[in-house]
Amino acid sequence: MKRCFAYLVALGALLISCTAKKDMAPLAVNLVPVPSHVDRDEGSFFFSSEVKIFLDEDTPELHRITAFLTDRLASAAGINLSFTREKNQPGTVYFMNAGLPEEAYELRVEPQRIVIDYGTPSGAFYAVQTLLQLLPAEVFAPSRQRGVKWEVPCCRIDDAPRFPYRGMHLDCCLHFFSVDFLKKYIDVMAHHKVNRFHWHLTEDQGWRLEIKKYPLLTEKGQWRKETVIGSLSSGIYDGKPYGGYYTQEQVKEIVAYAAERYVTVIPEIEMPGHALAAIACYPELSCGLEDHYETATRWGIFKQVYCPKEETFRFLEDVMDEVFELFPSKLIHIGGDECPKTSWKQCSHCQALIKKEGLKDEYELQSWFISRMERYINSKGRDIIGWDEILQGGLAPNAAVMSWLGEEGGIKAARQHHYVVMAPYPKYYLDYWQADPESEPLAMGGPTLLKTMYEYNPVPEVLTSEEAGYIMGVEGCVWTEYMPTPERVEYMAWPRMCAIAESGWSSAPKDWDGFTRRLEAHLGRLDRLDVGYCKAFFDPLIQLHKDTEYSKVVSISVDAPDAVIRYTLDGSEPTAASEEYSLPFVINRSQEVAAAAFRSDKKIGKTTYKKF
Ligand SMILES: [Zn+2]
Repeated sequence: MKRCFAYLVALGALLISCTAKKDMAPLAVNLVPVPSHVDRDEGSFFFSSEVKIFLDEDTPELHRITAFLTDRLASAAGINLSFTREKNQPGTVYFMNAGLPEEAYELRVEPQRIVIDYGTPSGAFYAVQTLLQLLPAEVFAPSRQRGVKWEVPCCRIDDAPRFPYRGMHLDCCLHFFSVDFLKKYIDVMAHHKVNRFHWHLTEDQGWRLEIKKYPLLTEKGQWRKETVIGSLSSGIYDGKPYGGYYTQEQVKEIVAYAAERYVTVIPEIEMPGHALAAIACYPELSCGLEDHYETATRWGIFKQVYCPKEETFRFLEDVMDEVFELFPSKLIHIGGDECPKTSWKQCSHCQALIKKEGLKDEYELQSWFISRMERYINSKGRDIIGWDEILQGGLAPNAAVMSWLGEEGGIKAARQHHYVVMAPYPKYYLDYWQADPESEPLAMGGPTLLKTMYEYNPVPEVLTSEEAGYIMGVEGCVWTEYMPTPERVEYMAWPRMCAIAESGWSSAPKDWDGFTRRLEAHLGRLDRLDVGYCKAFFDPLIQLHKDTEYSKVVSISVDAPDAVIRYTLDGSEPTAASEEYSLPFVINRSQEVAAAAFRSDKKIGKTTYKKF
C-alpha cells in the first residue's frame, strides 16, 4: 500500500481525490469530534464475516467494549465477527494495550488489518466510537441495511482528549424523563466522547430522587399540582398534577449503564436554594416564616430556601449518605445557585447564626452553609462542585466551580486555583434559541447559534497558562422549562452539543468550514440513531439590523457549507432563478424577505421569512 498523502483533518473533511483514476473518489473521513491528528492513506479495509478480532487483553471489559462494534455490525450489516488468538492473520482488528495515557488511542486502518492501540479501556472504547464513524452511516441504523459496502478508509488517527471533563447536563425536575430516554441520551453523549452526565435531580418544582430515609420527598415532593403554560409569567396554568421520580434501583441501573460507556453520573442535589419541593414535604427545613409550603408550579427563583439549622444539616447529610451509596462519582454537585437571602434576613435563627459565627452578611452565611456541607462531603472522600454563586462570600476550600453566569466566575475560581467547568449560559446553554425566535418554539433566551457555540473558546485568554490548567472541562446545559418531551430535548440539544463535545475533546484548531462539512455527514449518523435534532443548519438565518426609521439592513447566513442563498423581497418562494445573496442590503417597511439555500439549483432546507 502506498501512502498517498498526509493531511491534518483539522482542516476539514477529506474529500480530496488522491488517486489518478478520476472515478475512484476516496471515502471521506468526517469525524465528530475531530481527532487531534488524522493522516488519510490510500485504500480501504472491508468488513465481512471473515474478519476476526484479536484482543491483547482477554478481559470481560475489553469484550464488552468490542461488543459496541460487533453488535452494530451484526444488526445493521448482518456481519458476525469472531475472535482469534492468532496474530499476523489478514483481515483482523487488533486491540493492543500500548500503554497510552488515559482515554487516548491510536487507530491505524490498513487494507489488511486495523490496529487499535490504547492504554486504558476508555481509550479502546473511544477508538471503537471513531471506527464506527469511519464506517458508512448505515452502521447506526436500527435494522439490517442492504446494498452497503462496509468499507473503512485507510488512515492513521492519533487522538487524546483536550479536557478530562466533557459534560452534558439534563434537568429532570422541571420536566421528567424516562429511564429509557436517559439511556438513549447517554448513548448519544458517549458516542461524542462526552464523559460526564450531570443529572439535575432536585428543584423547587419537583424532587426526583428516592431517599429511603425521607419517603415524603418522592411520595409528595415529586408532585406539583399544576404547571404554568407558556413563559413563567403567563399566569395561566394547566390544572394537571405533574410528577415522576427515579427509584434507587433505577438510579443504579442508569449509573451502571453510563459506566459501561465511560460516562460518570454526577448527581445534583440543590442547596441552599431551589429547595421548595423538599420544604413542602418537611417544612421544618425552612426558616418557618410561612404557614404553608407547596411545590412550585411555575419556573423561576423562590425565596423559600433551606434554613441553616442543625435539623437541615442532619437532613442534607442523610440525603448525601444515600447519594454516596448510589453514585460512585468523586464529584457531587451541590447546586448553590440563585439563593435569595429574603428569608434569612427575616429569620431570627439565621440572624443569630450570622452574629455567632462572626459573618458579615447573608452572603457569608451562604458560604458558611456550603463550606459546612463541603466538610461533610469531603469527610466521605468526595468533592463538591457548584454553580458560580458558591463564590459569594468566599469559596469553600476544595470546591470546583461550574461557571454559568458567563466567564467571570470561572476566571475568579481558576485564579484562586480551584477547578472549573465552563458552562457559560450565553455560549453553552442548550435551552436558548438556536434559530430565529420568531419561527422557533418557546425557549429561554438567546439566540445562541451553532456557530457561536462552536467558536467559543472555553479557556479565557486572560488566564495565565498555570491558571488555565484549572479549567478542567466544558458542559452543555439542558434546562427543561420549555422541553416537556424527549423530542424537544433532542431538538434543542443536537446538533449544537456536537460543537460543545468537540470543544471538550479536540485540541485541533477551530475551523468552522471544516466543522460544517464534517457535521453535515455526521447528521446522517444522528438520523440513523433516531436523534430528533434541529435542522436549522440548512435554513438561512435572516437578521435585521437597525438603520433608520424607514429602513433596515438585512444580512443572511446559512450554516450548511457550499450553499448559495437566494432571496426575494415580495415574500414569494425563492427559486433557483431568484437573486443570489452576496452582501447585506437595505429593505423598507413594504418589503418581506424570503430566503432559501440551494446547491446545484436544488433547495436544501426550509424557506425562511422576515418582515420589518
Ligand atoms: Zn433561617
